[in-house]
Amino acid sequence: MIYRVGFGNKIKKDIWAGKFQCQNCSKISNFYLYKVKLCGYMFYIPIVSKTMQRLLVCDTCKAYRELSRVKYNDIKRTQKNKIKEGEVPYDVIMKEFNPKELKFGRKILYLVLACMNGFLWIVGAIGMGIDIPVWDASVPIGIFCMFLIGLLPLVPAIYTVIFTSQKKKLYDKVAVYK
Ligand SMILES: [Zn+2]
Repeated sequence: MIYRVGFGNKIKKDIWAGKFQCQNCSKISNFYLYKVKLCGYMFYIPIVSKTMQRLLVCDTCKAYRELSRVKYNDIKRTQKNKIKEGEVPYDVIMKEFNPKELKFGRKILYLVLACMNGFLWIVGAIGMGIDIPVWDASVPIGIFCMFLIGLLPLVPAIYTVIFTSQKKKLYDKVAVYK
């Protein structure tokens, strides 16, 4: 449930965690990492969030097992490397890394917007530095904060585009044999 202002749980599907036999349904199944987050919303936008549970979920029967933060991050790191190295099974690539799922164009657009935002803040910060006749300690702090606000959204944007392009590359490679 999402409230205009308030709290709500959000279940977020994360990375493919591997293919192995499920203890519940006994099938060889793909597993995924999930996070259950408690989010604080303001006008439908999640402002703050706290991870309440980390889960390993069977994609066939949806049975899950709770993981510790260390274990979760451990699996995630390993799986990211597998994507980087191209060690992902064919069915996962076709299902997860296809253009419709990846939404690569949207991620590029977000990066472009983040660049424009960063540019505006930095131009503003430089302009402010030139305009102020008398400098005191608050001026460099103010300028630094403006740089930070401008550049901060760029970090996840760049990261997402790099990670998505790795997935896209895998898809493009195997989709030829479709
Ligand atoms: Zn299962």
